[in-house]
Amino acid sequence: MNATILAIGDELLVGQVVNTNAGWLAGQLTLLGIRVRRVVTVGDHEHDIIDAMEQEWIHSDLLLTSGGLGTTGDDVTREAVAEFFGRKLLLNTSVLARLQESIMERGQTPMAALERMAMMPRDFAALPNPVGQAPGLHYRTARRRRTFVALPGPPEEMKAIFKGSVVARLSVRRDRFRLSHRTLCTAGIPESFLASKLADLTARFEIAFLPSPGQVRLRLTALGKTAEASLDALEKAIRSVLGDAVFGTGEDTLELVVGNLLRQQQRTIAVAESCTGGLVQDLLTNVPGSSDYVAGGVVAYDNRVKRMLLGVQAATLTREGAVSRTTALEMARGVQTAIGADLGLAVTGVAGPGGGTKDKPVGTVWIGLVDGDQAEARLLTLGQDRRRNKQQSAVLALDMARRRLLRH
Ligand code: ATP
Ligand code: MG
Repeated sequence: MNATILAIGDELLVGQVVNTNAGWLAGQLTLLGIRVRRVVTVGDHEHDIIDAMEQEWIHSDLLLTSGGLGTTGDDVTREAVAEFFGRKLLLNTSVLARLQESIMERGQTPMAALERMAMMPRDFAALPNPVGQAPGLHYRTARRRRTFVALPGPPEEMKAIFKGSVVARLSVRRDRFRLSHRTLCTAGIPESFLASKLADLTARFEIAFLPSPGQVRLRLTALGKTAEASLDALEKAIRSVLGDAVFGTGEDTLELVVGNLLRQQQRTIAVAESCTGGLVQDLLTNVPGSSDYVAGGVVAYDNRVKRMLLGVQAATLTREGAVSRTTALEMARGVQTAIGADLGLAVTGVAGPGGGTKDKPVGTVWIGLVDGDQAEARLLTLGQDRRRNKQQSAVLALDMARRRLLRH
């Protein structure tokens, strides 16, 4: 089953209101296994709405609109829908009665406004609005080939009607074109490398790449009754290509996975951060219960702090600089010792935009990691954007810790 979302409202076209309804509906439809083929936005003009419906209706198993069902002068969706389907608008007395009952509870609305909201195109069903007034509209063509749904614009009303009345009417369970999805989370391999490693699989299966700094989520899609089995096989194939780079599924985060490994191994971590300014510790401590394994850390921004609190050698700083393998390792060892943790993780780098040199351009970052008496360091060559460099460094530092813990 495929769907088109038609968002209606002048405010969406001038950038006054962000079209969150379309995003929300797209997410819900996708979860139901429906493929959203297009999102269209038009203003509150009858001819624009009809025009968009003419373009989209024949290509859509489901056409969903949001907005313009209220009773202010600018709300014209009801009229446009009636016109498009060639149906008269008729007063639905049971809808009117329900609206009259609800205003007894909620306050005053002029009778004319209630009557307007109770006007339904012939053969359309009203979808009750549990949190507002204007009901939604529902219509199915004769042989149930296509479905039309109109929802009000206020997000809470749109959501309540969708969940309360629309989902049950979509009969997606019986749909042999139902889509299933699965997400695999990867870290430490840039999107382009990932794409070339997976080229054979992406040619044969539906795999979408969703990158964020330091990570790429892979969204796998399969169709029909055997979808789950296909996804199992595809996941297995991807894992065999990517190995440890896959750190989780669904909503898993790197900090959660690192935390779980530390907890399982009953070990603790301490973090020394320069260019990330505490971001690694922020991520780690976003996980509830992280006090079980996060011992503490130091934000050692100034070299003086690196020396005094972490014991980085003055000679290291003058000879090799603050952004170097040796400094990263001394920071990691220093924080592990000072705080008394099993692992010490350190990040030092040039976040930019200033501070770069020919040898160490902006985006040069060293990560140091000590685990017991073992130590390793990794050089990252990142980009020019300060914020992004910080995020990427933090994520890749966590990923280095994760890979270390996996080998424990
Ligand atoms: P009402 O009875 O409140 O007028 P309505 O169905 O006519 O309901 P609109 O007038 O189109 O809805 O929108 C009402 C409000 O809902 C807008 O001012 C806006 O704040 C919000 N809204 C509308 N469409 C969207 C959208 N696509 N995304 C997010 N918010 C929206
Ligand atoms: Mg309105």
